[in-house]
Amino acid sequence: MFDSLSDRLSGVFDKIRGRGALSEADVRDAMREVRVALLEADVALPVAREFVEQVTERAVGEEVVKSVTPGQMVVKIVNDALVELLGAENAELNLNVNPPAVIMVVGLQGSGKTTSTAKLAKRLKEKDRKKVLMASLDVARPAAQEQLAVLGRQAEVETLPIVAGQQPTDIAKRAVQSAKLQGYDVVILDTAGRLHVDDALMAEMKAVASAATPAETLLVVDSLTGQDAVNVAKGFSAEIDLTGVILTRMDGDARGGAALSMRKVTGKPIKFAGTGEALDALEPFHPDRVAGRILGMGDVVSLVEKAAETVKQEDAERLARKMEKGKFDLDDLALQIKQMQKMGGLGALAKMMPGMKGMKQATDIDDKALTRLEAMMSSMTSEERQKPKIINAKRKRRIANGSGTTVQEVNKLLKMHQQMEGAMKKLKKMGGFSKLASMFG
Ligand code: GDP
Ligand code: MG
Repeated sequence: MFDSLSDRLSGVFDKIRGRGALSEADVRDAMREVRVALLEADVALPVAREFVEQVTERAVGEEVVKSVTPGQMVVKIVNDALVELLGAENAELNLNVNPPAVIMVVGLQGSGKTTSTAKLAKRLKEKDRKKVLMASLDVARPAAQEQLAVLGRQAEVETLPIVAGQQPTDIAKRAVQSAKLQGYDVVILDTAGRLHVDDALMAEMKAVASAATPAETLLVVDSLTGQDAVNVAKGFSAEIDLTGVILTRMDGDARGGAALSMRKVTGKPIKFAGTGEALDALEPFHPDRVAGRILGMGDVVSLVEKAAETVKQEDAERLARKMEKGKFDLDDLALQIKQMQKMGGLGALAKMMPGMKGMKQATDIDDKALTRLEAMMSSMTSEERQKPKIINAKRKRRIANGSGTTVQEVNKLLKMHQQMEGAMKKLKKMGGFSKLASMFG
């Protein structure tokens, strides 16, 4: 009787759905396995630890989909958290600057910078119809500039003519200058690497960055380097402003743990994945695929997805059956609201709809309104939810007090329900329920 609002809230929905919530013990048990999976996928230890902690917090109390075990449910939640983390930000290149847009490619020796430079150039030329110029700033290794020229011929992309004895910053300036004069859209600078992050390398990268003011600075990391990838990412992102990451050798047997480490350490999106030595083996990064590879529990994830789909269908069918009888009570309304919130609330829905992107403020308010609606309904007895007509003035005051709202708001809720119920009845007369049912859930 004196339990908290959130207890009562979840109580309402447990009753409706007949499902339990994940206990702390459920989550801890499953998380032990998740942790092993992350480490096996070469996620750096501190990154794995932090990630597990965050997801544990988030998972406790989540409701378990019917016909799924708590452990399976945790795996699904972890998978979703991984996808979200890996793909949280826009991974497109941002080349919206006065041309030429400069892309600076940085990383350790052998990580795949030169190859990725040529792949990216080819992609921009073929897919985005950009006029691209490449330049190698690697004066440390004798054949490095020639290597890029060879790849340029293969990709049919221009490279800056090689001038012996020039320093990296001078080459960078020359590249930008010629691109300006010759009307190139994009200049890609392939920089020198070292075996380890060191001061000399960072000084050179900073000098090039200030000479060329890149629109994008992409860190190239070999996905097979696993644990080391963290130190590389830390080293570079402490010194220069990275805008994204290219993860190479994703065609190998790496499970992709480096992706998670990169994301956590740099906070920058992974923009591309290298998937082979050929020049078209460069793909936009797919967070869902990589999350599946990291966890290695793809079958569990799809099992839970299927179960959730079934439950949604059952809910929709149950609602449809009620509607066939022209019945739509407040429990049904509560269920609808809950489902809406699960989809990310009105704000998230609005974002998906064209033309509504600018309405963030308005939709924020609406999300709060959804929470208040839920609170009001959880302050009602089940009899009141099933027979809203019995809600008299005295009951309204009690509901308002119990939910921290006002009688006016309770009235609004009842009116909204009446309107929906009316609409249902009209629809019933018109027939065609099965069609409509497929729109719910
Ligand atoms: P850099 O020293 O960073 O410029 O590295 P390179 O671009 O010269 O690449 C080193 C080696 O890795 C070359 O043999 C490339 O063909 C190979 N390589 C680069 N990216 C990939 C990739 O995504 N997959 C595979 N399998 N090999 C790659
Ligand atoms: Mg190179």
